[in-house]
Amino acid sequence: MARPQAKVERPARARAARYIYAFGGGRKDGRADMKELLGGKGANLAEMARLGLPVPPGFTISTEVCTYYYAHGRTYPAALRAQVAEHLARVEKVVGRRFGDPANPLLVSVRSGARASMPGMMDTILNLGLNDATVGGLIEQSGNARFAYDSYRRFVQMYGDVVLELKPESNDEEDPFEIALQEKKRARGVVQDTELEADALRELVDEFKALIRMRKGVDFPEDPQEQLWGAIGAVFRSWMNQRAITYRQIYRIPESWGTAVNVQAMVFGNLGDDCATGVAFTRDVASGEPGLTGEYLPNAQGEDVVAGIRTPLQITKRAAQAWAERNGMAEAERRVERPSLEERMPAVYKELVRHGERLERHYKDVQDLEFTIERGRLWMLQTRVAKRTGIAAVRIAHDLVKSRLISPKTAVLRVEPEQIDQWLHPAFDPAAPRVFLARGLGASPGAAVGEVVFGAEAAVAAAAAGKRVILVRIETSPEDIAGMKAAQGFLTARGGMTSHAAIVARQMGKPCVAGCGALVVDYGKQEMTVARPDGGHVRVVAGQLISIDGAKGEVYEGAVALGPAPASRPEFGRFMKWADEVRRLRVRANADRPEEARIARALGAEGIGLCRTEHMFFEGDRIDAVREMLLADDLAGRERALAKILPMQRQDFVGILREMQGLPVTIRLLDPPLHEFLPHSDRELEELAQKLGVSAATLRAKRDALHEANPMLGHRGCRLGVTYPEIYRMQVRAIMEAACELAREKVKVHPEIMIPLVGAAAELRILREDTEQVAREVQSAAGVKVPFTVGTMIEVPRAAITAGEIASVADFFSFGTNDLTQMTLGLSRDDAGRFLPEYVRKGIYPDDPFVVLDRPGVGALVRMGVEAGRKAKRGLKCGICGEHGGEPSSVAFCHDVGLDYVSCSPYRVPIARLAAAHAALGA
Ligand code: ADP
Ligand code: MG
Ligand code: MG
Repeated sequence: MARPQAKVERPARARAARYIYAFGGGRKDGRADMKELLGGKGANLAEMARLGLPVPPGFTISTEVCTYYYAHGRTYPAALRAQVAEHLARVEKVVGRRFGDPANPLLVSVRSGARASMPGMMDTILNLGLNDATVGGLIEQSGNARFAYDSYRRFVQMYGDVVLELKPESNDEEDPFEIALQEKKRARGVVQDTELEADALRELVDEFKALIRMRKGVDFPEDPQEQLWGAIGAVFRSWMNQRAITYRQIYRIPESWGTAVNVQAMVFGNLGDDCATGVAFTRDVASGEPGLTGEYLPNAQGEDVVAGIRTPLQITKRAAQAWAERNGMAEAERRVERPSLEERMPAVYKELVRHGERLERHYKDVQDLEFTIERGRLWMLQTRVAKRTGIAAVRIAHDLVKSRLISPKTAVLRVEPEQIDQWLHPAFDPAAPRVFLARGLGASPGAAVGEVVFGAEAAVAAAAAGKRVILVRIETSPEDIAGMKAAQGFLTARGGMTSHAAIVARQMGKPCVAGCGALVVDYGKQEMTVARPDGGHVRVVAGQLISIDGAKGEVYEGAVALGPAPASRPEFGRFMKWADEVRRLRVRANADRPEEARIARALGAEGIGLCRTEHMFFEGDRIDAVREMLLADDLAGRERALAKILPMQRQDFVGILREMQGLPVTIRLLDPPLHEFLPHSDRELEELAQKLGVSAATLRAKRDALHEANPMLGHRGCRLGVTYPEIYRMQVRAIMEAACELAREKVKVHPEIMIPLVGAAAELRILREDTEQVAREVQSAAGVKVPFTVGTMIEVPRAAITAGEIASVADFFSFGTNDLTQMTLGLSRDDAGRFLPEYVRKGIYPDDPFVVLDRPGVGALVRMGVEAGRKAKRGLKCGICGEHGGEPSSVAFCHDVGLDYVSCSPYRVPIARLAAAHAALGA
């Protein structure tokens, strides 16, 4: 196709409803910011045309037509036909060919494109307009019968698959056209599609048509108009296919958005060896490293590159050399067998790099490009913001700031809080021993260990049973999405960096090794084999453990030990600093032990928001002293036992306070019901009786006495403090003695003593008095003063409601949203798992309220508590220490209600820091 030169007049403007927008050949009706109307693909095609990039001319049927189609019993607006005819006529004029003209036919692609890109969800049809008459014209034009029949057989196949729905639903069933194609190759004694001659391809066209007649009882439509409308309808229908629905559910894309349809003049990458098709990223989307990356296939069309039919070649010389090295191919051989685009078509390569840089500068973000080279000419077919791993997201955002393309604030907004996770999780320990199994492409970084499963359903089932699995497939497809979600990582035998598995892995932030050619996967036998250089084979069956390194692209037998995470790299530190500069919320960690406190501080925690003291009670042989205390009949007995626990607790607090070096440490006094500390089985109970020198019967009686029907609503939290004041006194003494000891060593300390489960101000008043008395005693005995505060958790709904009164005796509030959710919704956190998923599925609650804070219910109580508390006591410090403190949307809520800090588990701290920054930026 010649590049469009002709100026074409605009269509009449007198029409009421406009359903179509033109691009290319001098027209650019759309813009990048019109994605709602044009879908992502259409809007960006228009934008590329606007920038003067070479885009084949075409037009976009807007998403409004899709909406109309579903709202009106699958029919089109009356004006659509005339508009399509008019725009098709314009494209004909620009290209100088006519749709359906047997002498000089225009061929088009029909491409779907929703507002959010949905990789692999929608099907594109290429070479539309071919029939037994027009194929002659195509031969004439191109002087290449092989090309014409190759295009024709592809078209009949795609049309049959997509429009006539011959493509099997299940992944395990082969496409009937593919079977026929394989059969033809076998009969002709060739391996590659490209080796089939024109006459073989012509036979295939007839065989494909016969297949359609046989399977569907209809004739393949020869009329190009019928083909066009069939394809348009199929795109709209595909919006409601199961794959698309599943994808929308996972990524929460509203059904109401609809898809657009793009009709575009074809350019051909399959005209010969000076033609190619490919995909590229303007930077490495796995590692984030700068420089164009990507893959191409000479003499190929459409999705050949990602479909894994032939192994694609690298675009840059550097990547091609790396490939050869990985696969043990000598450089001389590589130059012949696997030339890069850079070497093969240097001028086109340079143009592609130039367009990539232009688009990256224009969109100020990394682009994912699709292109085709027709007889040495480059055509741009798609650009979109590239999906990337969490590792790459930070690196790219960082680098774009350094090159002054975006501001630090924009950089902060470019990374989803959850993506930070990838920086924190360990890679394989470099020193750990490993048994090498095979090598593929490092398609998505990270390390994963799991049992091998060969199918999506098996992955889902194993994950539901609590197993970690690696999904191994020849290649993955959208049908596998649920299984991919359930797996720790993916391993495929076929496909490149842009294969389905690779794209999905990067999006989900999971490790992936793709295109591992040495693997022979046998679904039937549920095993894979790898040939050894010595001629032997290694066999791995389903259920066996393997480890995959998605950065290196390596697969190991068994489980490899994990090592440190990449978070120590300087760009990560700089990026997180930008986030810290904009956030208002402080971020603390929930940590019970000095080691956890150290990790938390290294990850940026600005204090400890929850130090649970009961964990300390279980450690080592302390549990014996704790049990002795529980079983004592009188105060004296309890105090004797508590005296044994005191020095141990003091050491715990010394450790954690020292580690935090003057940052606030909120220490919660004993919270769980006491029976949790008693042995559960009879055997353990008898052992304990022996240890304590009491009879098993006495012990059993004691345990029964402590039994509660509703322990979570029972004798726990401050209720223990009220009835057994000596327990809390011991704990306060341990805290204050630790603080004084450190103060004498000139270590800064800042303990905050927190009393759990308060429901009435009077509870807190009584316990506060006790606490202050002990604190005074300890300080005067030690002869030092340490600053400390006494506050409470707000986790009983009554506390939130009477927060004003409670605030008068509290120095701070910490919202314990785990219990608060449990008690507000009347849902047991430990048991609700049995039915809660159904509640979420039915939309009764939008999310699991233990994961995402329930704003209308629990959130309202939090807001009420903060407002009433601060009204009674100005500037009352308020935080949250439930699991929600590390969940990004809940963090945003905490920001909105004006909390001072969130507290979460150490590894969530950087995620919460970024979420807090997003909240501050109003994202
Ligand atoms: P997807 O949404 O799955 O990426 P596309 O609509 O981008 O589907 O089409 C897939 C591929 O088909 C493109 O990457 C391109 O290689 C090819 N293609 C689409 N339209 C044309 C065209 N007009 N000329 C040549 N190739 C095309
Ligand atoms: Mg595409
Ligand atoms: Mg609680």
